[in-house]
Amino acid sequence: MAEQHIRQEIIAFARRCYERDLLVALDGNLSALLPSGEVLCTRAGCHKGLLTDDDLVVIDRKGNKVRGNGDPTSEMAMHLACYDARPDVRAVVHAHPPISVAFTVAGVSMARCVLPEVVLTLGTIPTLDYRTTGTEDLAHVVGRHIVHHDAVLMDRHGAVCVGGDLLEAFCRLEIMEHTALITKTARDMGRVQELAADEAVKLRAMGLRRYGGPPSAVAKAGDPGADLPAVCLACSGCGNPSPTGIGPAGVGARADLRLARVAVRSPFTLEAALTEARRFVGDAGTAESSPAPELETAIVSEVLRALKDA
Ligand SMILES: [Zn+2]
Repeated sequence: MAEQHIRQEIIAFARRCYERDLLVALDGNLSALLPSGEVLCTRAGCHKGLLTDDDLVVIDRKGNKVRGNGDPTSEMAMHLACYDARPDVRAVVHAHPPISVAFTVAGVSMARCVLPEVVLTLGTIPTLDYRTTGTEDLAHVVGRHIVHHDAVLMDRHGAVCVGGDLLEAFCRLEIMEHTALITKTARDMGRVQELAADEAVKLRAMGLRRYGGPPSAVAKAGDPGADLPAVCLACSGCGNPSPTGIGPAGVGARADLRLARVAVRSPFTLEAALTEARRFVGDAGTAESSPAPELETAIVSEVLRALKDA
């Protein structure tokens, strides 16, 4: 693909990121590999909704500027880490999709098997442990996990999505945020029901064979569990959730990757719920006193109703 065409694509998809509320102001950055092997990226400090050809900078694979106005994006190292990690990656889109980022702020994982089409095409979306923006450390962590995933979330920051071209990377970003919206809406309605583990594995294996994915994941298409993290299987209806409601902080060597934090109600009893309710009422301004009898009656009936629904 000619450089001029790639330039137009970066501008078009940057504007779409802005128009779709996937980033605001000077957030985010996009890049693509040029036929020369150099990287075309957005410059630092430009508004993606107003991007022009003058906002694009060419860098070499070590991050040195080759041509263009201004400095390359401050997240240049993260982009280069993605290209270094995956020879099949030719475009990287980094944005701050608000609902997806809110999941990380709330400590709720998106690495769950909920929507069949997402399991087919993306698998699970991991949240990487927090690192300072713009650092080599962050770039290193992203590169290490992009080996296994086409879309990752950085804690309290944003998304990194890769693809064979800008359209593919952008689609993955859109799918991530759309999944976050659906999952959030379901959570608001009461709960998120995950796919059964065997169905999730069947879909994932099928998706890897049909649509491809990271080469390391495709290589696992025939394995038990495909490339789905074990903790994901453990939370997909097997009745073995973490008692704290939070999944392991890491699995083996992948200690900086939060695979799944399962939103599970901790086992609660009527007495525990009442204690919590009394504490809340106490905190609300009635000092150490117990709630009024009528309030306590109301609390008991609410708790009983909740227990019946659970
Ligand atoms: Zn960012």
